[in-house]
Amino acid sequence: MDTKDFRHHLHRNPELSFEEHRTAAFISEQLSEMGIEHRPIAGTGILARIEGRRGNLERCVVLRADIDALPIDEMTGVEFASQNCGVMHACGHDCHAAMLYGVVKRLQMERDFEGTALALFQPGEEKVPGGASLVLEENPFDKYKVAAVIGQHVDVDLEVGEIGFCPGKFMASVDELYFKIKGVGGHAAVRGKIKDAVVAAADLILRLNMLNSDVCVVSVGNVEAKGASNVIPDDVICDGTMRTFSEKLRRRVKDMIANIVEEIEYKHDVEVVLDMHEGYPCVENDMQLTYEAMLLSDSLGFKTKDLEMRPTAEDFGYYTQLYPSLFYRLGVGRNVGRAHTATFLPDDKALEIGEEFMYRLALSILNK
Ligand SMILES: [Zn+2]
Ligand SMILES: [Zn+2]
Repeated sequence: MDTKDFRHHLHRNPELSFEEHRTAAFISEQLSEMGIEHRPIAGTGILARIEGRRGNLERCVVLRADIDALPIDEMTGVEFASQNCGVMHACGHDCHAAMLYGVVKRLQMERDFEGTALALFQPGEEKVPGGASLVLEENPFDKYKVAAVIGQHVDVDLEVGEIGFCPGKFMASVDELYFKIKGVGGHAAVRGKIKDAVVAAADLILRLNMLNSDVCVVSVGNVEAKGASNVIPDDVICDGTMRTFSEKLRRRVKDMIANIVEEIEYKHDVEVVLDMHEGYPCVENDMQLTYEAMLLSDSLGFKTKDLEMRPTAEDFGYYTQLYPSLFYRLGVGRNVGRAHTATFLPDDKALEIGEEFMYRLALSILNK
């Protein structure tokens, strides 16, 4: 099967995060056909292994692709559109998995390299706690010296033929914030008898907003105060998100939020309960690895682009915290819709570029 057919098969048969049973079975079947050793990982993922002929097998490169889809009703109208109603590969993970398949196929035929290539078809990127965290809980790379973990993502801000890189800090950490402000409600006209949770919430939101900077985002997107024009409610709910570009800053901002909560409690005589749901850590690219990859991209004739830091998150961050890693972006054309929408359709033409680059990059790291 070629890379394009592989992608179309996955696109036709998308599955939600941590439910990628048929996807994993299909990947396993294709790997078996090529005689590639592999095993299940993180429930619905697959870890494949190809050993080079030149020895030094404890040194490895991990090539990672995510394989999950999103709860979206596809409206692209293409022949290979989703046949799983309400589920769609709307983030390009079908492309990522197909390109990785293409790479392992070539590595299996080549075999004339040093070390071990591990191909990780990872489940559940789109859903906390993230498939990457489940993969790492199994310690699959412990017996190796990991030279690099490599991942790629399709990008509609780049044309086909362009590959984007950002050395160092690249994508944000994410944590979800759920505040409940508990006051004492009552008649809105009798202020002496209430502890105003609405005013406390307003103050809290303004204080949180002051934390925003180039390297930190705190946004509140949901506020619920179910009172009336003349009724102050007992409780107000505020839900938001917090993003930073380093784990150190992430810890510091969490402390600052805890301090703000205390101040609001004291100032407004209310109780503030904060439930923080930990999301993904920052994606921090290894500098050296990234610069070498950029040189390689140039030498292969691809258009190498510098990227800015992105306030979005990726569970690939878990790997970057432990191993030298690189997450880069593959151009799929500007007229293919927006990711996470029903009309998103990356160009098949990008597949051979992503495959070629990942293959060459893997070989260059392995043979170094
Ligand atoms: Zn996504
Ligand atoms: Zn994605």
